Amino acid sequence: MALKKSWVTSANSPETGFPLNNLPYGVFSTGGAARCGVAIGDMILTVDELGPAGIFEAGNWNAFMALGPKAWAAFRAEVQAALSEGAEVRPLVAQAGATMHMPFAVAEYTDFYAGRQHAENMGEILRGTKGLPANWLHIPIGYNGRASSVVVSGTDIRRPLGQLGAGRFGPCQKLDIELELGAIVGTGSRMGQPVSVAEADEMIFGYVLLNDWSARDIQGWEYQPLGPFQSKAFATSISPWIVTKAALEAFRKPTPLREELLLPYLNEQKPGLYDIELEVQLAGETISHTNATRLYYSAAQQLTHHSIGGCPMRVGDLLGSGTISGPLPAEFGSLMELSWNGAKPFTLANGETRSFIEDGDTLTLTGHAQGDGFRIGFGECSGTILPAINTPDWAT
Ligand code: MN
Repeated sequence: MALKKSWVTSANSPETGFPLNNLPYGVFSTGGAARCGVAIGDMILTVDELGPAGIFEAGNWNAFMALGPKAWAAFRAEVQAALSEGAEVRPLVAQAGATMHMPFAVAEYTDFYAGRQHAENMGEILRGTKGLPANWLHIPIGYNGRASSVVVSGTDIRRPLGQLGAGRFGPCQKLDIELELGAIVGTGSRMGQPVSVAEADEMIFGYVLLNDWSARDIQGWEYQPLGPFQSKAFATSISPWIVTKAALEAFRKPTPLREELLLPYLNEQKPGLYDIELEVQLAGETISHTNATRLYYSAAQQLTHHSIGGCPMRVGDLLGSGTISGPLPAEFGSLMELSWNGAKPFTLANGETRSFIEDGDTLTLTGHAQGDGFRIGFGECSGTILPAINTPDWAT
């Protein structure tokens, strides 16, 4: 597939993440109310006059998502026609002057653990044992996270307070990131009714970059036997533009060869991963570079597993992929892995060393799928760490 040309000049550059081939959906404001828009080059097209009447009134994409795949395809065709080379020029808003907001209201948030190298690394670091947990090759492992603390890129993140061990309380000393993709559920399912992998794929509306901020010291103390809780609940950041499944269709890649035969309910009908180059930057310097094909389970498989016991899925549910790490240290998707839990601090270009995140650090995730002369970009998922609040005198 080649670049589709637009009358918006900046959308025709091979460097932009937002050519006519992409058309990701976001919510922005320029002083007034938040409005839904589509990114095109370095501009935004407002969509109030497109699509079914009133569908964007709430200032997010939830009502539109609930319309389902046929409406998604019709709307995408309408927007693509309106922005194609030769179409009538319309007023646009410059991205540079816009503030981005959450593109959708997160109904519920579930985080998975589908990065194989990450699972192996964490086992070795936390438990000193090489290899995967016994269940890992059979079941997409996940936990129910918090929708209330999912924030859009650019939101500052406060270092959390918590229990760091027996009788120890204070600001997290091992603050970390997790490089993930977020899948957004566009249509729901009924309670008691499992969905197949093919149905799950149909239900997914699009993807964002997701940073599952993690407090490793709090996590290490609290996670046994029920998994992460406060170590993950304080914040999750997502990139502001929803890259639709339609825009990524040409970049599908199969999940890796199954090492253990999966139960048939988890078998994929079509390739469920995407060839998306991913980077982590700390203070503007790239500290990790990997690809979303490093995942072992697709979002469709995770969604199917999520529903298999009868749990209903809702419009606006967010599924984190799990930390994406490749086999080389330069491909690790968390500082825990990059510094091997502080045993191997790494040095930045400015001479500073890091094991975990310092106050004032800005962490940024970027990603794109590389086409022939064009890119399907995700924009940025960025957050700056603020110092912890003072420990309240009643806390210790
Ligand atoms: Mn995670």
